[in-house]
Formats: sequence, structure tokens, C-alpha cells
Amino acid sequence: MTYLVNDKCIKCKLMDCVEVCPVDCFYEGNNMLVIKPEECIDCGVCEPECPVDAIVADTESGSEKWLELNTKSVSYTHLRAHET
Ligand code: SF4
Ligand code: SF4
Repeated sequence: MTYLVNDKCIKCKLMDCVEVCPVDCFYEGNNMLVIKPEECIDCGVCEPECPVDAIVADTESGSEKWLELNTKSVSYTHLRAHET
């Protein structure tokens, strides 16, 4: 299981989600953030931080297309809120 970001995130600049993620698995794409599925430890703390409900668990129906999009995060910019 992993958490995923969907297209509700487009153009959000809050990034509250990045601050709370203990393993820094958020990446910045062209116009939204994504979660790298193999790095997400499924802690769930980011989900309530998102004001537009853009973060969903991959167990929710319709999440398949977001898994594909989030998996492309390998080519995106790694957002490090906790590493020095
Ligand atoms: S996932 Fe939510 S809190 Fe994080 S940047 Fe996107 S819209 Fe903002
Ligand atoms: S569920 Fe936890 S590990 Fe996964 S992206 Fe959210 S805060 Fe990070």
C-alpha cells in the first residue's frame, strides 16, 4: 500500500504535506506534487494535512491512474524537508 497525490493538487503552493512526511517521499512535478510509492511508508500523516483532499490511499477506488502518475516521480525533483 502507498498514498498517492491526485490532480486536485495542481498549482497548490502550500506543501504542508511535505513538511509532515517523515521519510521525505514527496517529489515536485511540473504543476503538482507526487509521492514516490516505493518510499512511502503508509503512515498516513500527510492525508489530513492536505486542504483539498488531494492525497488518497491506493486502496481507494479509482486510484489506479494516480499510481501510474505518481510512479513517474523518479524523474521529478525530490523535496527534502527533513534531510540536511
Ligand atoms: S498534496 Fe495537498 S497539501 Fe500537498 S501540495 Fe498538493 S494540494 Fe498542497
Ligand atoms: S503516508 Fe506518510 S510516508 Fe507516505 S507520503 Fe504520506 S507522510 Fe509520507
